[in-house]
Amino acid sequence: MKNKKDMFKEDLTELTHSFQDACADKDFKDFVYGLNIKEEILIKYTSSLQDAFLECKNCSNCKGLSSCKNRIRGYKYTPNPEGSIISFSYDECSKERKVRESNSYKDNLDLYELPIEIKEASFKDIYKDDKARLPIVKYFKEFMEDYKKPEKPKGIYLTGSFGSGKTYLIAALFNEMAKKGEKSVLIYYPEFLRSLKASFGIDFNERFEYIRRVPLLLLDDIGAENCSNWSRDEILGPLLQYRMENHLPTFFTSNLTLSELEKSLSITSSGVDKVKARRIIERIKQLTVPLELISKNRRD
Ligand code: ADP
Ligand code: MG
Repeated sequence: MKNKKDMFKEDLTELTHSFQDACADKDFKDFVYGLNIKEEILIKYTSSLQDAFLECKNCSNCKGLSSCKNRIRGYKYTPNPEGSIISFSYDECSKERKVRESNSYKDNLDLYELPIEIKEASFKDIYKDDKARLPIVKYFKEFMEDYKKPEKPKGIYLTGSFGSGKTYLIAALFNEMAKKGEKSVLIYYPEFLRSLKASFGIDFNERFEYIRRVPLLLLDDIGAENCSNWSRDEILGPLLQYRMENHLPTFFTSNLTLSELEKSLSITSSGVDKVKARRIIERIKQLTVPLELISKNRRD
């Protein structure tokens, strides 16, 4: 029967052979000896060094991130000699880092129940052939200029037909603002209300505070929610009041005009309250300039 020492010797011989075989490739040999580490240590890591060498070769023939052949796209399996051992790490390549850094502004944009693609909305992609968009784009330019002043400009109450691109437009503005370091939240209002209600006793206060104070806020699709006394008088009212008093730009999109919204807000399951609905509309008017986007439905 073989003892442990003999078995170890056999393993080592096998490793040495595979190392020598691998070194038949001159490039591999240059790669491993370039690590400046003793051969007896290199031998123990032959297989991992082969993986690292392959990834290194892929990188020297790089044709761009989209055709990256490495195990993890944009990362290179790399040997790091540390005394008598070699550790291996996945290191980010410069191209991947550039993409990551150029996208980092998107962290300034927080979405709630809106498709993630909305983070790609940009000024340069706004349909220029559509005249209906021009007054909105003009306002965006003024908004960005005025935003530098101490008193912040008003948001927009953007009404218009379904699928005309209202949400996209405001998201494009928020993206540009994000590039300047400004934080924003875009919330799909009907769904947000439902989840806010469900967060009672959990993190309701944090959620409410967060949207109350965020520098730029979009309440998307207001008027599509089931209005209740609670949502109107305990949520929307105080939220708008706070943002008004603190000059925090607030945007709305809606399929309803302001007078249609007023009607919708006045009716809840508890009855009709025109005064409370009126008060909300007054706050929206204080916070925004009204604009309209009637255009073809861009959804398909
Ligand atoms: P609305 O909010 O008015 O209902 P959306 O903003 O959701 O409409 O736009 C409808 C569809 O058209 C969405 O899929 C949106 O991404 C797309 N869209 C609108 N404007 C553009 C644009 N300039 N470039 C690319 N897609 C756009
Ligand atoms: Mg929308």
